[in-house]
Amino acid sequence: MIKIEKADRLKQLPPYLFAELDRKKAEARARGVDVIDLGVGDPDLPTPDHIIAKLTEAARQPRYHRYPSYTGMNDFREAVSRWYKKRANVELDPLREVVSLIGSKEGIAHIPLAFVNPGDVVLVPSPAYPVYAIATMFAGGIPHEMPLLKENGFLPDLDAIPAAVLARAKMMFLNYPNNPTAATASREFFEQVVAFAERHQIMVCHDYAYSEMGFDGYVPPSFMEIAGAKEVGIEFHSLSKTYNMTGWRIGFAVGNAQIIGGLGQIKSNIDSGIFEAVQVAGIEALEGDQSCISRMCEIYTERRDVLVAGLKRLGIKVAVPRATFYVWFEAPTGHTSASFAALLLEKAGIVATPGNGFGAPGEGYVRMALTVSKERLQEAVERIAAIGIGR
Ligand SMILES: *Cc1c(COP(=O)(O)O)cnc(C)c1O
Repeated sequence: MIKIEKADRLKQLPPYLFAELDRKKAEARARGVDVIDLGVGDPDLPTPDHIIAKLTEAARQPRYHRYPSYTGMNDFREAVSRWYKKRANVELDPLREVVSLIGSKEGIAHIPLAFVNPGDVVLVPSPAYPVYAIATMFAGGIPHEMPLLKENGFLPDLDAIPAAVLARAKMMFLNYPNNPTAATASREFFEQVVAFAERHQIMVCHDYAYSEMGFDGYVPPSFMEIAGAKEVGIEFHSLSKTYNMTGWRIGFAVGNAQIIGGLGQIKSNIDSGIFEAVQVAGIEALEGDQSCISRMCEIYTERRDVLVAGLKRLGIKVAVPRATFYVWFEAPTGHTSASFAALLLEKAGIVATPGNGFGAPGEGYVRMALTVSKERLQEAVERIAAIGIGR
């Protein structure tokens, strides 16, 4: 038996804050509790039929069975470029300014390997999708947290970043509409980001995973539609949330040709691209009937209204999100993120995610995902009421 020792890059990872909750969730299920799981950001709705039909048709064609190109089929990248023209009036060269990804997580995890040297600083929001900071660490970079605070509308305060940090900062991650806070960013904020990035020579990586999940007529802006954005950054994008395709693993990144090229170079040495039949289905998703998106948004709007109204009736402080399928709210007085999430699970059989699990500034908050039916959300509200919250 040899001694198996993990590399320092794994040993340095922060503790996994959801481990305790995962254990309790499994225990509750084993006890036979009818758990309402609002913990994970994975759509419960199926992929639209026309996209599935395209996959099954393409899967039968031998020409799609071979190694795909690592940067993506030209047809897929052209479809992405047409989508950006139509959606955001942005011109993209499909060959140099678009790269396909095996889900946007893959690209986010790999981008620091292309540009971050050991000791370089990467500006990451906190609370946030954990991949930004961990990918930075895997590349030897140092994540510098930009706290997302309620008083700033959950946008980072760029002026608060110390000059010494800025001098070493190479890259910045942003994500709007935001997971986990459900906050949105205005064009004016993105304009400030472009100017800031130019001034301090920082590459911007904007994660636009929730681009089509806007409610009440709100259309989330693309970072790419801001003048000068393509000179400083790229945008990550995904079919996962827009078309309920999380399991399919298809996404893309667009923008600055040098940054896209660097990411492509890393990928060409690590993976071999996306199954071409999935890319053909991805073209169908981007260019086929888009009514599935408005139907999806209607469903999330109804669910949001049930949950937010219910939580408000219980006296919980919660803002009405106008994008994403998350509801982010303050744990009731006397509770921490973890203690309230534990109470919900133990007393109400509800899984919610403690906000501090996304980073220390998330302490005091809890995230619920709108990934169960409105009837189940109504039941969740009743169960919370029954444990005495709000009385
Ligand atoms: C869901 C999600 C993604 C998408 O991941 P895929 O790998 O494309 O499935 C990216 N960023 C954030 C913030 C997300 O919540």
